[in-house]
Amino acid sequence: MTGEVFDGKKAEVMVKDLRASFKAGKTKPYEWRVSQLEGIVRMIMERETEIMEALQSDLAKPNMEAYLHEISLSKAACLFALKQLKGWIKPEKVVRASFTTFPSSAKIVPEPLGVVLIISAWNYPFSLLIDPAIGAIAAGNAVVVKPSEIAPATSAFFAEHLPEYVDNSCIKVVEGSIAETTALLEQKWDKIFYTGNGRVGRIVMAAAAKHLTPVALELGGKSPVIVDSNVNLKVAVKRMAVGKWGCNNGQACIAPDYIITTKSFAPKLVDALKSTLEEFYGEDPLESADLSRIVSFSHFKRLTELLDEENIPEKIVYGGERDEKHLKIAPTVLLDVPHDSLIMKDEIFGPLLPIITVEKLEDSFELINSRPKPLAAYLFSKNKKLEEDFVQKVSAGGILINDAALHVTNPHLPFGGVGDSGTGAYHGKFSFDTFSHKKAVLSRGYATEMRIRARYPPYTYHKQIL
Ligand code: NAD
Repeated sequence: MTGEVFDGKKAEVMVKDLRASFKAGKTKPYEWRVSQLEGIVRMIMERETEIMEALQSDLAKPNMEAYLHEISLSKAACLFALKQLKGWIKPEKVVRASFTTFPSSAKIVPEPLGVVLIISAWNYPFSLLIDPAIGAIAAGNAVVVKPSEIAPATSAFFAEHLPEYVDNSCIKVVEGSIAETTALLEQKWDKIFYTGNGRVGRIVMAAAAKHLTPVALELGGKSPVIVDSNVNLKVAVKRMAVGKWGCNNGQACIAPDYIITTKSFAPKLVDALKSTLEEFYGEDPLESADLSRIVSFSHFKRLTELLDEENIPEKIVYGGERDEKHLKIAPTVLLDVPHDSLIMKDEIFGPLLPIITVEKLEDSFELINSRPKPLAAYLFSKNKKLEEDFVQKVSAGGILINDAALHVTNPHLPFGGVGDSGTGAYHGKFSFDTFSHKKAVLSRGYATEMRIRARYPPYTYHKQIL
C-alpha cells in the first residue's frame, strides 16, 4: 500500500472517474473485455512464481495447493470466459409469445451493470479476488477490487501487478482494511460482490441498501459430512481428508466442518482417518510442508480455544498438537463432542474435525436442517435411496456425494450459498450473469391491431364480450 490514506473523498473521486469511463462506453466492446481477460491470463502465466511466493508468505500454502486451487483454476476460469464470451454476450432469442403480445419478437439482452465493487477474503486470496473479477469484466463492467488485508503479500501483488496488465481507467485495486472498505462501501455501486464472514456480510448489505445496490454475498457456514457404513472407506476417507486438510488446512469455506456417522461405524471411521492422515502428513504433521499454517495469531487463538474448552481435550482421538511460534495446528479429529460445545457453534475454519454420532443416519438430516444453512453438504454412501433423500431433504449452497470440496471446480455449476451461507452465485456463466442485467426486449410491428381492440378505451367493445 502507498503511504496515502484512502478515504471517502478519494473513493468518491475514483468511483466518479470509473463511472465516466463506463458511461463513455469503454468497457462495453467485446474487444475490450477480451483484452482485459487476456491481460489477466498473461499476468497469471508470467507471474506464477510471485503468486506462489505471496501465498507462501501469507499462509505457507503448499505450492501444489497454490497451483491447483488458485493459479490453475483462475487461469482456467479466465480461459473459459474467453472461449465462451461471444456466446454469453449474444442476445438470447425468445421464441414463445403470449396471446397479448402476438405477433412480436422478443429477446433477452445482457447488459453490464456499471461500476462494481469486489471485496475478497484471505483464505484463497488470489482466486477469490480474480475469479469474480473475471465475471465482472466479461460482463463489461468497470471494476474495483479490494483484496484482504489479512493476506498482505497477495494484496500487495495485486496492487503492484494487476495495473500492469489491465486498463487502469476501468479496473482499479484498492488495498486496505476496515477504514478503506468503509470508505468504499459509502459510495454508490451497481453491484457489490463480497466474500467473507456473515457479520461483515450484514455490514455490506446494510451499506448497499442505502443505494438500492444489489449484492452477492459469498459467505461460509458449518458444512456437514454424513458418512454411511456402506462406502469404499479407504477412498472416502482420502477424499474427506484432502477436502479438509488439503484445502488450506481446513481454512476453506467448503471444508468439511463436522462429520455425522452412526455410533457403530464411528470407530472404523476414526481408524481410517488416523491412518490416512499419517500417510498424508507423516508422524509429525507440524513439520509437514504439505499443510498451510493458520493465517494469523487471532485465528490461531480462536482455534486453540475451541480445543481447550472444558471436557473437549478428552474428545481428541487424533492430533491436537500446536506450535504457536509458527502458527501451526496439526490435523485434529474429535469424537462425540457435545452438541452445545464451542466447536459445534460456529464455523471452525481450521484443521479441527469433530465427529458426532447418531443412532440412524436419517437422524442427521434433521440435525443439519436445525442449523443455519451451510455452504456445502456432503454425503459418503453407496446407498442411492439415502443419496436421493439427502438431496431432497437437506438445504445447502451445494451438495456433493462421495467427495469433498470438488464441486467448486466444475464451471458449469453455480457456486454460492443459501440463507446464512450467502446469496448469489458465480463461476463460469453464473459469474457473467451475476454481473449482468438481463434486459427484456419486446418488439412489435403494426399488423393485426384488431386482435387487441379491447385494450383501448372506451371499453364498450370490452363490455360486449364479457
Ligand atoms: P477477511 O477477514 O479477509 O474479510 C473479508 C473482507 O471483509 C476483507 O476484504 C476485509 O477487509 C473486509 N472487512 C473486514 N471487516 C470489515 C468491516 N468491518 N467493514 C467492511 N469490510 C470489512 O475474511 P473472513 O471474513 O475472515 O473470511 C472467512 C469467512 O469467509 C469464512 O466464514 C468463510 O467461510 C467465508 N468464505 C466464503 C467463501 C465463499 O466463496 N463462499 C470463500 C472464502 C471464505
